[in-house]
Amino acid sequence: MTIKNFEDLIEEVHQKGICQQCGGCVSFCNSMEYDVIGYKEPNSPPEFINKDNCLKCGICYHICPQTHVLDDDLNKTFNLLDFSSMPLGNICDLYSCQSVDSDFLRHGTDGGVVNALLNFMFEEKLIDGAIVAKTKAPFSREPFLAKNKEDLLSTSGLKLGISHQLEEVQRYHSYSSSLPKISSTKFKKLAVVGTPCQIYTIRCMQNLGIIPSHNIEFCLGLFCYENFEFDQQKVNQFEGEFKIKFEDIEKIKIKENLIIRLKGKKSLLHIPFEDLKEYMRPACNACSDFTNVYADVSFGGLGSPEHFTTVITRTKKGRELLADALKRKIFINLELNTSKEKHIKNLLLRYSISKIERKENFMKTKFGPIKEVKSIV
Ligand SMILES: Cc1cc2nc3c(=O)[nH]c(=O)nc-3n(C[C@H](O)[C@H](O)[C@H](O)COP(=O)(O)OP(=O)(O)OC[C@H]3O[C@@H](n4cnc5c(N)ncnc54)[C@H](O)[C@@H]3O)c2cc1C
Ligand code: SF4
Ligand code: SF4
Ligand code: SF4
Repeated sequence: MTIKNFEDLIEEVHQKGICQQCGGCVSFCNSMEYDVIGYKEPNSPPEFINKDNCLKCGICYHICPQTHVLDDDLNKTFNLLDFSSMPLGNICDLYSCQSVDSDFLRHGTDGGVVNALLNFMFEEKLIDGAIVAKTKAPFSREPFLAKNKEDLLSTSGLKLGISHQLEEVQRYHSYSSSLPKISSTKFKKLAVVGTPCQIYTIRCMQNLGIIPSHNIEFCLGLFCYENFEFDQQKVNQFEGEFKIKFEDIEKIKIKENLIIRLKGKKSLLHIPFEDLKEYMRPACNACSDFTNVYADVSFGGLGSPEHFTTVITRTKKGRELLADALKRKIFINLELNTSKEKHIKNLLLRYSISKIERKENFMKTKFGPIKEVKSIV
């Protein structure tokens, strides 16, 4: 029997324009020391580098978030048996938090909670390193192994020698493949921060029991409705369309839409996702997990007030981690009564369903009717 391998990924995923560039196949290639596959161009799918060394083992095919081979196994592990009626995944606890450490809050995207939690994990020796994303150059982010607070703060991108407003934009516009860094950290206890497509591939690897995924102690997942691609031509187009200059941008966030703060202005500019189709990575159309259902803990701005992060614990491990962090008072934790909790869940549900429907429509338009929606990723 022939096992589907990277050639099949090229045909079934890359050539169909649905590669999410999560980096999973590159990180976990069974023959990675021989550079079989890798990224040749930024913002494009991985390619064969040394094709002759491919073992045709099929690992890359099995863990790809676009082949859905292991969906049933994962859904069982994460209590998502009836996943189509559980678009928010398994929710143990729901919080709205803010870092009490002013450095993390100031540099953070929302409440600075993800980096504050990673720092807590370093202090408690729960992890030796955290794989996050760091600004590399204009329009590009690279995976980065953070080992302490200074490293974490540097991932905000504010310390690099390029203009602040471009760094803010890069936080979103360029997809970062954090996963490849995993392969160089074989002997460490790691946490990984990732978008839903990235966390999915890690969980597949763990499901298959393949090294080095066992080093990953914690998966911290970011909400993700979509990601953007900006080259200079798109920057010009964006500036013309929304009548703003990139150089005037002070801060960018993604919550219920794209939120831009311009320098010297108090009011925020909200651009609905609906108006950003031109700038969205096309492959994000083929993705349907918004709240990162396979993470230990998920984080996003949606549902929380300004400078707070919505936090969902999903696994026993994630639940205990958050409880410990709250006990140690590293966060301000807003009290959520039943009606506030319901409001947040409804909001998350609206975006989750919208993402699922967007994928269904995209797949139908591109490939004809879908027989069965097998997965929510
Ligand atoms: C592409 C993208 C799309 C998002 N879309 C939404 C959305 O639609 N709605 C919503 O509510 N929230 C969205 N988020 C999440 C939100 O922007 C914040 O990351 C989240 O609320 C955590 O904020 P924080 O201040 O607690 O985290 P921080 O303390 O600021 O820490 C964020 C951590 O994430 C890491 N990181 C940043 N970008 C990446 C990346 N691309 N890959 C891996 N790690 C990364 C950083 O290195 C840092 O360690 C998105 C995030 C990303 C990266
Ligand atoms: S060696 Fe295995 S994992 Fe690597 S590209 Fe070939 S089939 Fe994929
Ligand atoms: S594993 Fe990720 S990078 Fe590799 S083909 Fe699939 S979506 Fe693309
Ligand atoms: S929408 Fe987010 S999670 Fe989905 S493919 Fe795009 S970047 Fe990955």
